[in-house]
Amino acid sequence: MIVTREVMEHIYRIPVPLPNNPLRELNCYLIRGRERSLLIDTGFRQEACRQALFAGLQELGVRMEDTDVLLTHLHSDHTGLLPEVASPESRVYIDDLDRDWIVGRTRFELERQEDGRFAMTGIPADMLKVVSDTHPGRRFAPDPDFDRYTHLSTGDTLEVGGYRLQAIQTPGHTPSHLCLWMEEQQTMFTGDHVLFDITPNITRWPNLENALGRYLESLKKVRAYPVKTALPAHRATGDFHARIDALLAHHEYRLGECLKVVREEPGLLPYDIAGRMTWRIRAKNWDDFPIAQKWFAVGECLSHLDYLRAEGCVREEVSDGLLRYYPV
Ligand SMILES: [Zn+2]
Repeated sequence: MIVTREVMEHIYRIPVPLPNNPLRELNCYLIRGRERSLLIDTGFRQEACRQALFAGLQELGVRMEDTDVLLTHLHSDHTGLLPEVASPESRVYIDDLDRDWIVGRTRFELERQEDGRFAMTGIPADMLKVVSDTHPGRRFAPDPDFDRYTHLSTGDTLEVGGYRLQAIQTPGHTPSHLCLWMEEQQTMFTGDHVLFDITPNITRWPNLENALGRYLESLKKVRAYPVKTALPAHRATGDFHARIDALLAHHEYRLGECLKVVREEPGLLPYDIAGRMTWRIRAKNWDDFPIAQKWFAVGECLSHLDYLRAEGCVREEVSDGLLRYYPV
């Protein structure tokens, strides 16, 4: 059974299934070079992903001794299998702030800070415990002991398979997410920065101020590129510039919605603000949301509150270890 597909000359897509995940699949890309090849992203550290990735690499006859790996960002569906798939000869590229979320020496402290901040949102403690113990981002994360990463960021280029790839740092979805631009082909690997039939999740990060503000900036940054072909990390591609306009409009609408809730009921906790916003999910009401979805919704809500705070539209008050928001 052939699973890989050549999307451009010497560039192959390896579909990696993401079981029980709304993203459904990861698009891993392999750029085949004469001397060295490059694999972009890997899949969760989970059996279904492992089988698909290794089968795809085998089908393409890839030798990992001759292959380097680039991680667009820290999320486990992109990084989980890295330590298993990389050979001792592989160079592994990632930008620094995202690397800090996957290596053991910094990962656990950042996760502790993240949990601490979520605990202040009014999300019930038992719910938070369940999420931090079970959510796939942590369960299927890469081996924290692997620490052979090479920093790659804006200004750096990689040459592979006759292509020249320019790294562009696009913070927002994660603290130092990377897109890759091939000028001659007017093609961009967009990672999760621009997805076409799902909205990239934006949350609050302990090591990135105003993630939504940074995300919107990063969208405008890549919008300036004459992209003809976008190669996203999940699902299908589409019209790059039209999609960015739609994402910008989406967040503007959500910001308005979030501000309206704060104005109507000053002093709410983020957990309750999230519950009053509208979400595209199959659940009767906020109480009925699956726990993991609530956690994502609260994170998304926090990133909107941070943006509104930076714009001077709301203010935050901390009392008894809880965050409350008021209109300005
Ligand atoms: Zn992601």
